[in-house]
Amino acid sequence: MSSIQAVRSASAQGIQTNTPGKQRAVFMDRDGVFNEVDKHVNTPEQLDAALIPASLAAVAKLSRETDYKLIIVTNQGGVDAGFMTPEQNNAIQERLAQRVEEAGGRLDALYFCPNGKKFQVPAGEADGRKPDAGMFYHAAKEFGESIDLADSYMIGDMSTDIGAGEKAGTTTLLVKTGFAGKDGKCPATPDFIHDDLASAVEFILARG
Ligand SMILES: [Mg+2]
Repeated sequence: MSSIQAVRSASAQGIQTNTPGKQRAVFMDRDGVFNEVDKHVNTPEQLDAALIPASLAAVAKLSRETDYKLIIVTNQGGVDAGFMTPEQNNAIQERLAQRVEEAGGRLDALYFCPNGKKFQVPAGEADGRKPDAGMFYHAAKEFGESIDLADSYMIGDMSTDIGAGEKAGTTTLLVKTGFAGKDGKCPATPDFIHDDLASAVEFILARG
C-alpha cells in the first residue's frame, strides 16, 4: 500500500547526501510521465483514460529488479485553485497506485503538492511545489533520513521537474512525453534525455 500524502513545504536541514550505503530512490513526476497531458485529469476515470501502459510496466520492472524507493512527486496546484476537491485529488492518486499494483509494481510513496502559486512558504523551508525541492526533502525525512538524494534520480517531462531534481541534488532525466521539457518555466538542463519513462528505466537498470 502506497503512502499518499500532501506536502506543502519541508526543510533541507539535517539531510545528508553522498553517504555510502544509504537508500537510493527514483522520483517520478506524474502528469506527462504516467499519463498524457492533452486532457485534464480531474477524476479517476480521466486518469484511467490518459494512462500510458508502458509506464506502468516500466515501474513494475523497476519494482522487480531493484530496491530503489519509488516515489511520485506531483504538483497539483489545481487543489488550491479549486479545479478539483481534495477528495477528488486523493481518489486520483489512489487510482494510480492501484493501477501500478495491478501491473505488478509498487510505489513506496506518492506525494502531491496542492499549493497554488500564492502559497506562503514558511521561513527556512522549501516549497513543496516544483521547481522547489520540498517534496524531495520530505521524502528524505519520511524514510528515516535514509534516502541519499545524491544517489537518486528524478524523472519528469517539465523544466520544473528538472529544476527541482537539480536543487535536490539528484541525477535528472527529462522524458519526451508530456511537455517534453518545452514548458519554458525555469532554466534547467537535464543530465540525460529519454523518449519516455520506459526508456529512462532501462537506462537506470543498465547503470546498475
Ligand atoms: Mg509533468
